[in-house]
Amino acid sequence: MKILCVGRNYAKHIEELKNEVPDEPIIFFKPDTALVRNNRDFYYPEYSKEIHYECELVLRFAKEGKYIEEKFARSYIDGIGLGIDFTARDLQDKAKKNGLPWALAKGFNDSAPVSDFLPLEDFPDFQNIQFCCHINGEERQNGNSSHMLWPVANLIAYVSRFVTFKKGDMLFTGTPAGVGEVKVGDKIEGFLEGKKMLDFYVK
Ligand code: MG
Repeated sequence: MKILCVGRNYAKHIEELKNEVPDEPIIFFKPDTALVRNNRDFYYPEYSKEIHYECELVLRFAKEGKYIEEKFARSYIDGIGLGIDFTARDLQDKAKKNGLPWALAKGFNDSAPVSDFLPLEDFPDFQNIQFCCHINGEERQNGNSSHMLWPVANLIAYVSRFVTFKKGDMLFTGTPAGVGEVKVGDKIEGFLEGKKMLDFYVK
């Protein structure tokens, strides 16, 4: 199982980090050891002093596919969930400054908590899904997939030209504005169409 992620897929998030709008999707990976399930708590790692939460819609693949056409993209997905793309922003900023890869800043252990998946039938339109993230009970992110720069079908078609998706793979689809630091003791909750999906603590 692999986890593919998209960076800079929401204009307001690009603005808040003062990044440039890319001409093509920015794709990166997280290894299977990044995955955390069942709302297990997140343990703050010692090698970073600035871990950010990024709440994102996550798609799960139902079958293998490469060179997937946009019009068939939906048939490759069997569930939609919510995930946190934990990012060691200090390590990422250092890598960016030096033109180096983000691998460790994004792919460290437990950097990808993912909720249960809801069935595809619950989401008739990939590009109209509302989700939000609360930290200590306060809403910090509120996004809708209608604001994605690259719609889901487009992302699946693009990525699958380079990387074959396999059953069980996951795709993080980018985060809306409102990212920020987490601290030990924070409670993180994520809601997908109003339904609580993520609920865990930073320890
Ligand atoms: Mg992200």
